[in-house]
Amino acid sequence: MESVQKPLLKVDQLKKYYPIKGGVLSRVIGQVKAVDDISFEVFEGETLGLVGESGCGKTTTGKTILRLVKHTEGSVTYQGKNIFDLTKKGMREFYKDVQIIFQDPYGSLNPRQTVGDMLREIMKFHNIARGEEAEKKIKELMKMVGLSEWHIGRYPHEFSGGQRQRVGIARALCLDPKLIICDEPVSALDVSIQSQILNLLKELQQRLNLTYLFIAHDLSVVKHISDRVGVMYLGKLVEITKTDELFEVPLHPYTRALLSAIPIADVDHSSIKAILKGDVPSPSNPPKGCVFHTRCPECMEICKKELPVMREVKPGHFVYCHLYNEEMLDENVKNNTLYNKIEKNPKN
Ligand code: SF4
Repeated sequence: MESVQKPLLKVDQLKKYYPIKGGVLSRVIGQVKAVDDISFEVFEGETLGLVGESGCGKTTTGKTILRLVKHTEGSVTYQGKNIFDLTKKGMREFYKDVQIIFQDPYGSLNPRQTVGDMLREIMKFHNIARGEEAEKKIKELMKMVGLSEWHIGRYPHEFSGGQRQRVGIARALCLDPKLIICDEPVSALDVSIQSQILNLLKELQQRLNLTYLFIAHDLSVVKHISDRVGVMYLGKLVEITKTDELFEVPLHPYTRALLSAIPIADVDHSSIKAILKGDVPSPSNPPKGCVFHTRCPECMEICKKELPVMREVKPGHFVYCHLYNEEMLDENVKNNTLYNKIEKNPKN
């Protein structure tokens, strides 16, 4: 994806903090930093994967972008407009263009409504189609997501997990969106069904020129579907680049540890596993300096005191780590270490 292209969605220094209240007067005594100062762009027609362990803030990022939770600071710009400044009418337009597919389709469907009734209601509310036109569109949608006309009159409990996710996709598509936030859309499904749903999402993307922000904890799922990948840790975005580059030359120590944890079928594979020690610290009390320093195998003195900055180490490859600050990078490049070493032996 060329960086000269205008982004469809731009997230800039976004923060979402949840207050912790305590004491008799229920005063704010702290904050959970669920999303802490992250920035990225999503370009038209691409899939940006957002990956990280549970609790890293990826789902909160998706919800904040959709204004399902109120942001603390920063901006989200969609087609040049800051969505946090939009009026009710503006938000209605935004929700036509930007839709979400949830992890648990059952929980997000009304158990008392047939699929047809649900789709009719949404299209009527957004003035998309009514009557004959709506019926025609519903039949098309069913076909598009791999369901039959028979399913139009069925209730959510009559579907299997995979079919329910197809209904969730039909619901997202019925407003002809441009961008879909896919929030762990396959993590609750069996492996064989996962690949069917991923292939369906890919096929629909090509056919309808959709853009996806794909949130998942499973790196192999993200690898399968994404053009670029962003890695999150404890509310921070620590690395973002093209998918191939991330898997071939992971630069951030956390990314390298995540990749090491993917099971490899080859029993002779001799890579050194970067096993992480300790638990993820609490986002209500993140470590000073680099939030990863308590678990990082490459931690230096500076990491315990100072926050790193996001740097573009290679065109389109951004890393949030002191190993790649100007001084260190110059030194490392001079000594032919680090980046070169990693490029030669990406599994280290
Ligand atoms: Fe590790 Fe330091 Fe980089 Fe943080 S800044 S990931 S502690 S090397």
